[in-house]
Amino acid sequence: MSDKVKAIVIKSNDRKEKDSSVLLFSLEKGKIWVTLKGIKSQNSKMKLAQRMFCFGEFVLEEGKSGQIVTSFNCLESFFEIAEDVDKYFEASAILEVVEKLNFSSDFERVKVFMLLLNALKNICFGNLKPKYAIDKFFVELFAIYGFPMYSSKCSVCGTNAFDKLYVNYATGELVCTGCKTFISDELSKPIYLALKIFSNTDFEKLSTVRLSPNSEKKLLKILVKNFEIRFDESLKCIGMFE
Ligand SMILES: [Zn+2]
Repeated sequence: MSDKVKAIVIKSNDRKEKDSSVLLFSLEKGKIWVTLKGIKSQNSKMKLAQRMFCFGEFVLEEGKSGQIVTSFNCLESFFEIAEDVDKYFEASAILEVVEKLNFSSDFERVKVFMLLLNALKNICFGNLKPKYAIDKFFVELFAIYGFPMYSSKCSVCGTNAFDKLYVNYATGELVCTGCKTFISDELSKPIYLALKIFSNTDFEKLSTVRLSPNSEKKLLKILVKNFEIRFDESLKCIGMFE
């Protein structure tokens, strides 16, 4: 019995053997390891199925030791991402985040899949700074998982008459001075405004956004820290350009 899934290649293990193992993020089944048989002698179309970022339709069959790809139809190779070092690093960092995720519902899985596809599309063909695609990805991801970070008021007491705001990493939400806990970081005004922009603006419209280098660093740091605490995972890739 075969199964057809739409999926994005997260990574592939280059093995010396003829076969290749590929981690897919599929719309229908979430993340699955699959095997590409005899990849060295395969046609170039099938070889695309082990390229990072590649999006396509995979036909899978149950083999002795897991799922085997029997046919592949490339819908979008996102080839240009690998041609540009900035785009490549940012897109790889996003794949690393996806690799760490678990999905507790169909809703989460489908939403994250669409978000990833949109992020890759915009990194590949859009005009936004590739780094901002990561910020936008995190902001959207937190919202999908039920803790949108940006808010115009304190998430605990509801005041909007605050002089300072903090990220409360215990909940991933913003709080005022009176409500902050010991695991929180102050959010400076430029970072708060940047968070507001990233929360309210689509990927396509982020091309005009420019933050100061300092704000860029701080915003990404806060988003990464929130991810690492909320999801209890550490991210290696993003650390490289912090
Ligand atoms: Zn408060």
